[in-house]
Amino acid sequence: MVILLILFLLGLCIGSFLNVVIYRLPKNESIIYPSSHCPFCNHKIAFYDNIPLLSFIILGGRCRNCKKRISFQYPLVEFICGIILPLSFLYYGFSLNFFATSLFLYLLLPIFFIDLKHQVISDKITIPGIIIGFAFSFFLETFHWLGSLIGIAVGGGILLLTAVIGKWVFKKEAMGMGDVMLFMMVGAFLGWKGVLLTLILASFLGSIIGGIILTIKKKKDTVVPFGPFISIAAAFSYFWGTFLIEKYLSLFR
Ligand SMILES: [Zn+2]
Repeated sequence: MVILLILFLLGLCIGSFLNVVIYRLPKNESIIYPSSHCPFCNHKIAFYDNIPLLSFIILGGRCRNCKKRISFQYPLVEFICGIILPLSFLYYGFSLNFFATSLFLYLLLPIFFIDLKHQVISDKITIPGIIIGFAFSFFLETFHWLGSLIGIAVGGGILLLTAVIGKWVFKKEAMGMGDVMLFMMVGAFLGWKGVLLTLILASFLGSIIGGIILTIKKKKDTVVPFGPFISIAAAFSYFWGTFLIEKYLSLFR
């Protein structure tokens, strides 16, 4: 129990850091300097007001200085990050898989929130992600480096093809390079089966939820980013992909 609590607290700190990444990366600001400040009044946030989760509750979700409401996204990101480490631990124990899983999820999380807000998927996350995923494949017993390499190629290839055909058919950008890079990262961690499953699930999720959003908003220039759906689908495929693919294939046996 103690170990789970320690991992949870450690995860909260990672969440605190990822909040900074989500806020500053799209603005091309340094994620190390300067220290945290209120997005409204620029007031420097003291360390005792910067405790993950707790400070948000104590301050009632408002800045101590200007009393403006702070986005619920901050404690949400911290909480999700908090439970990633204990969950990975329960799933894998202290193994290399524990680190690979946690890292993969910590890469997907900022991609999810940044794309949701800014409609952009940063290379600064996906390129290191591709390298990290590929590097892990050399050491994981459950995965082979060739599987990772094929995953990268399939993820990139299919998406690039979709982007080209999409542009040709719809006469506009259907898929950005950011999406292609993200699929390469997913392929590096999941292999070609996982990346295909992610594509199917993400398209399915995207067309349903995206359709609902477009119907509600009714504005023609409303953009529904694909990255959040890819991120969710990838996380799902990571844990339940093998099970789902086995079940599907057994239908034909
Ligand atoms: Zn403020």
